[in-house]
Amino acid sequence: MAGEPQDDCLFCKIVAGTIPATIVRETDTTIAFRDINPQAPTHVLVIPKAHHQDAAALAAAAPEVAADVLRETQAVADEEKLESYRIVFNTGSGAGQTVWHAHAHVLGGRGLEWPPG
Ligand code: 5GP
Ligand code: ZN
Repeated sequence: MAGEPQDDCLFCKIVAGTIPATIVRETDTTIAFRDINPQAPTHVLVIPKAHHQDAAALAAAAPEVAADVLRETQAVADEEKLESYRIVFNTGSGAGQTVWHAHAHVLGGRGLEWPPG
């Protein structure tokens, strides 16, 4: 069922606490934790606690939680004192999505080229 924890999902396990992560923020509906393979001085992932496979599925099933995720990206940027930052939702394997639990990458702390690769 949409939103239910998935046994084979890495980020559901981080939500459950069975896989450790460096959590920087938590709300009733979201957690934010540092990416294990950072691509910038600040690289934090903001995820819904509920399982949805990508950002579009999250927005369709639980738009208020999608808004919570976006609000938390700003809160992370504020805490990390980022003047500029990038929010990335890789969607689909061709775009680099490797974990099928919706997540926003918050990247900052260095110059970010545009267009991205
Ligand atoms: P995607 O490639 O799906 O957009 O992003 C998945 C992200 O999860 C990658 O940036 C990857 O480094 C990160 N990641 C993968 N496994 C772990 C883990 O066990 N812990 C943490 N904190 N991040 C992870
Ligand atoms: Zn999940």
